[in-house]
This record gives sequence, C-alpha cells and structure tokens, in this order.
Amino acid sequence: MQKFESTRNQQIQLEPSLAILQGLSDDGGLFVLRDFGFQKIDISQIINASYLEIAQMIFKFFLEDFSEEEIRDAVHYAYEKNFKTEEVTPLVKVGETHILELFHGPTSAFKDVGLTLLPQLMSLAIQKQASGKRVLILTATSGDTGKAALEGFKDVDNVEIMVFYPKGGVSAIQELQMKTQTGKNVSICAVEGNFDQVQSEIKRLFLEDDFKKQLAEKNIQLSSANSINIGRLIPQIVYYFSAYAQMVRSKAINIGDEIDFVVPTGNFGNILAGYYAKKLGLPIGKLICASNENNVLHEFISTGCYNRQRAFLQTNSPSMDILISSNLERLLYDLSGQDHEQVKEWMAKLHDIGNYQLPQSLIEEMQQIFASGYASQEKTKEIIKEVYQKDNYLLDPHSAVAYKVWKDLPQERPTVILATASPYKFVQTVSDAINQTCQLENEFQMMEKLYEETQVKIPENLASLEELEINHQDDTSISGMKEFIFKRLDREV
Ligand SMILES: *Cc1c(COP(=O)(O)O)cnc(C)c1O
Repeated sequence: MQKFESTRNQQIQLEPSLAILQGLSDDGGLFVLRDFGFQKIDISQIINASYLEIAQMIFKFFLEDFSEEEIRDAVHYAYEKNFKTEEVTPLVKVGETHILELFHGPTSAFKDVGLTLLPQLMSLAIQKQASGKRVLILTATSGDTGKAALEGFKDVDNVEIMVFYPKGGVSAIQELQMKTQTGKNVSICAVEGNFDQVQSEIKRLFLEDDFKKQLAEKNIQLSSANSINIGRLIPQIVYYFSAYAQMVRSKAINIGDEIDFVVPTGNFGNILAGYYAKKLGLPIGKLICASNENNVLHEFISTGCYNRQRAFLQTNSPSMDILISSNLERLLYDLSGQDHEQVKEWMAKLHDIGNYQLPQSLIEEMQQIFASGYASQEKTKEIIKEVYQKDNYLLDPHSAVAYKVWKDLPQERPTVILATASPYKFVQTVSDAINQTCQLENEFQMMEKLYEETQVKIPENLASLEELEINHQDDTSISGMKEFIFKRLDREV
C-alpha cells in the first residue's frame, strides 16, 4: 500500500486513513506521497465521465485503505445533493477565456469541494484508526475554510470542531456565516491577530507535547480541516480533470491539448492540487499563481526567494491575505528531489530568519511548471467592473485577481481561470467596483441592489443569513487560544 510520508522525515510513513486523522505530521512536516508512479489517469476515460465518477477514480489511487464502496458512498454523500449544479464545478465561457465556477456548494466558496468530503473520510478514519476516541479539529481560517468546515463537520459523531479567524480580517458576510453557525459540536472564536499568526499558533499547538498530553488524557485525537490535511487536498484534484473534460466536450480543445490554469492563491492548496493533477497525467501547460498585494508567492516564483519579512496587508481579497503559505512545503519536497533535510533547512530558515532562497537550477525547474503575477486592490476592482461591462459576468475579488493576472501575461494556451467564491460573499467590494454602493446600506440591501442590477442570483445560503440568530460571540488573543480550547472542551454539552 502507498503510504504518506512526512516532508521532513522519511521514517514517518502513515496509511492514508491515519494521515487524514492526524492532519499534520508529528515533526511539523506535511504528508505527501513519494511516488505518483501508479498508473496515470487515462484522459480518454474522463472525457465523458461524471464528476462523481472522476472523483472515485482519483480517490482510489490515493486512499488505498478505503474500500471502493466506502469511497463511492462518501463521494455520493458529498456531491450529489450539496452542490447546485450537476457538474458540481461548471465551466463557463466568458469572453476569450473560460471560468471554472467552484462556488456552488453549501457555503459559496471553493472550500466546499474539500470540506463536504473530508467529514466522510474523517468518520471512516475514526472507525479504522481511533475507535472510541473523540477527534478535535482545530482550524485557522482566512474566511472561507471556517464556514465550510463548520457546515461539513457540524453534528458529526465523535468530532469536535473549533474555528479561529482573524478579527477584522474577514468580510462581513463571512463573519456572519460563522457567527450564525448551528451544531452541538462547534466553536468559533475571533482572534486579535492576522491569519498567519492564527495559523502559526495552531501549528505550534499541534507540536506542543504538553497540549497533546492533556488531550490524550481526555482521549482526544487532534486533527485539521485546513488544506494541510490530505483529505481536504485530494478532492481538489478532481475539478482540474473535470474542467479539462468540459473543455473537450465544449470543443474548446481537442483531447491531448495542453491547457493553462490560473489560480487565485493564498495557502497554495488549490494550485498544489493542480500540480498533482499534472503529475497524474492531465495535460497542463502552466499553472499560473495569482497573488493579491501580499504577493510573496509571485515573488518566490519569479525570483526563487521566499521572504515573509514584509508588512501583512489587509486587502479586498481577504481569503488570500497570507504570507506563510503552508502547502508550498509540499512543492519544495518535490523540487528538492524529495530531500527531507533540505526541506527542513528551508523551513527552519523561514521560521528563524524569515526567508530562504532556492538555487538557480530549481528556480528554472519550478518555472517550467509555474508562472505568476499579482493584482493590486485597485486593479481588482477595475477588473470586476470591466468584465461585468464587457462580458456581463460578475467576478468575486479573488477570481478577479486571477483574471487580471491572466490578462497581463502572454496567453500561450487555452486557459481556465478558477473562480473561488460567489461575488455575494464580498458584496461591499463588488458593489463598490460597479458603482453601486451608497453609504447607509447594510450588506443585505447591497445584495438586493446588486441582484437588481446584474440579475445574478443570490445564493440561498447567503440570502437567508439575515434571518439567522447569532450563536457565537467569543474572542481572544493569540496566547488565549489554548485556554479557549480547553474551556470549550470542558463545557457541559
Ligand atoms: C481559500 C481561498 C483562496 C486561496 O486558496 P488556497 O488554497 O489557500 O491557495 C482563494 N480564494 C478564495 C475565495 C478562498 O476562499
């Protein structure tokens, strides 16, 4: 059986279900597959396959200790009813390009693709590996993971989920989505700090012996719903294949032609799934990484220098406001020739001095596969307006960042731009961009007005937020997160 190993230690080798259950390796590394040498996916087989069928094909490769039946049931449970369209992730032609809409799930962001499935895998993993234990899922969110994880894990047996978000660092709608969450096993807490600080504290807790010991005494296993968890990452590979199949079916390309993808990027999870799709044999030319003003990844891909020592900016694409991009470690593992010591050294440098530099040969190797660009907040708004006026298509700010980067680069191949959220999640920015806002309105009035103007339907889950009760009001500091966790664990349920 293929096992998942830590990016930082080859001795750590886990069965897929255990890797899902743990989320992060005990040495701080991320779980990866050493060998994608299993049979590559036969592209001709996916062209006429449904999304659910493609998903099952891909999961079978990665999750060898799950039975075909378990995988089939999990996939059906996740994708049959939760998504508004049969395609799950439909492709639409917009002007000269194609947009893959990843936001038709229960919380209107692409995180739903991974987080409708992860709870199914987690429940099975508990049965296989941790029978009798409770699992505590700690999650840092830049806005969208939190809600998608809460929806996915609410009231799942033997699971407790806690979500931490940067106070003031998410959109008003994103915050309301989380604060109105229902479910007996959920906790939500705003934290004074930015996303990087929240994510770093959670990663630190994962490695703290004392914390783990206290949880073990309560018979609790720690896990993660962030894209560091392979159970969240693997489902994201599927839509790259689905996009390709849709491109062929619509005759935009012939089977075998290479296409490019543009991915609005923060924690490098989404684009890494594209890289894995390429490794599985999908004809991808370039993966284009689109950053906002926190353009640390654009700088890395163009120069090989990763430097987190810079101001953290709050932008109008808040889900990408990240300077420490976790999943990049998985790419570094491959680029270095799967050299654990080298990965460890770079990660230590990033932690200790705030930067590291790739050697020239590896920069070139990286640039064979990846290109990059970034968009300022101003340009992001201009693009939303321009694409709306020209093509009658309404982009959310994150997708607009990707569109702008596509527009600026030489266009070498047919391209798919990933659209990661509904424009209504960021209604203030989108309304502003198309000159809709007047000051006194609240978010829901803005939604109505945007609908009247554009006739783009408001997703039901967002429209109904206005009527829901606020169930969560907690906040804390970075150093208070640990205490919050125990307070919530010890509450009367
Ligand atoms: C999370 C998110 C991103 C960034 O995705 P990563 O996998 O973290 O790179 C982009 N756009 C939206 C709307 C998101 O929620």
